[in-house]
Amino acid sequence: MKILVLNAGSSSLKYKIFDLDHDLVLASGLVEKIGEEKAHLIYETKSKKTYEEEAPFKNHKEALEKIISILLDKKLGVLNSVSELQGVGHRVVHGGESFKIPCKVNEEVLKGIEKMIPLAPLHNPPNLEGLKVSMSLFPKVPQVAVFDTSFHQTMPKHAFRYALPEDLYEKHGLRRYGFHGTSHHYVAKVAANYLNIPIEKLNAITFHLGNGGSMAAIKGGKSIDTSMGMTPLEGLVMGTRSGDIDPAIPFFLERELKMDLKSIDLLLNKKSGLKGICGKNDIRDISRLSKNGDEKATLALNIYCYRIKKYLGAYLALLPKLDALVFTAGIGENSTLVREMILKDLNHLGINLDQEKNKNVKRGTIQAIQAEGKDQTVIKILVVPTDEEKEIASQTKGILN
Ligand code: ADP
Repeated sequence: MKILVLNAGSSSLKYKIFDLDHDLVLASGLVEKIGEEKAHLIYETKSKKTYEEEAPFKNHKEALEKIISILLDKKLGVLNSVSELQGVGHRVVHGGESFKIPCKVNEEVLKGIEKMIPLAPLHNPPNLEGLKVSMSLFPKVPQVAVFDTSFHQTMPKHAFRYALPEDLYEKHGLRRYGFHGTSHHYVAKVAANYLNIPIEKLNAITFHLGNGGSMAAIKGGKSIDTSMGMTPLEGLVMGTRSGDIDPAIPFFLERELKMDLKSIDLLLNKKSGLKGICGKNDIRDISRLSKNGDEKATLALNIYCYRIKKYLGAYLALLPKLDALVFTAGIGENSTLVREMILKDLNHLGINLDQEKNKNVKRGTIQAIQAEGKDQTVIKILVVPTDEEKEIASQTKGILN
């Protein structure tokens, strides 16, 4: 079964084509700077054939048309005809309460995604554009929308409601939704499989630590809480997002610094987090600077890991028993230092990191890095490479079957 996965951003389009029967990625790539003079397209096949082009793709339609022409190209392509595609899976950021599972896209679904725009004004419009363009270019291929929010729809009311007047929830949908659901779900399933525990029995805390970051408490395979909220701004300290702050800070910024809402939005989403504290948002740079004695970089690391540790404590209290901690995404998979700082001094809670195993994590494979004691009930600490596109492809297959 061949499935194309699309992830449309405001000026970008990521794509990956899977042959699920043979567990293969046939080709993948990205178009960036759509709408600009020099949009940039990259393409790579599983046999390492590559292609790059700079061209003024005016919109997502032109970009996708180009991608299709390459996929069908005699030398570079991986398809003989578009009819070989059995489905297109789309990443959609916000599904609100309407979309608790992925679904096949029709007019009603498009309207539903459009309705969520007030909750995700930056993400849902380009996702919707990607869907519409794909439907117009592949009218005979079924399209499936997979939502970042769906996995967290199992959160109980006391976890997802804010302490705000009920009307704001009932009429305007102000509540916590959570994001990165596809990744949390995927790594939880991979961890369950690795540990030989049925997913319905898995209790875990998942750490998706990339440029954006979130954690989830998973009980019996279901998300019961997660650190992001109505938007991805709530929760952990991230590359450029503040995460949790006193909600009164924007009032101060407006009153005392005369900032308008747009500047406050920009400040909290793009100029805060690690970048706000030390001027850098890549953990590799920050770790290097800190090692060389840079105090701001050290503080950034300390604040970053301290926040994660606090959420870990909170989620430990929510789970009756814990099978595993699961680290994933750019930082979770690659930063020995961050994992070490988060898990330091937690032996009294049954969390024991093996320093050597932590240092020697091999890229791209599942690794268990807990210290093995005699006690079989020791909490497993796993590093699991995430693969959101693969999960979207397999969810797409599931819906189409
Ligand atoms: P996104 O949220 O954009 O998908 P990723 O999951 O790709 O982000 O994570 C990106 C971040 O991962 C980078 O900003 C960097 O901080 C971190 N990262 C990537 N590779 C490494 C590495 N080898 N060591 C430590 N950190 C890394």
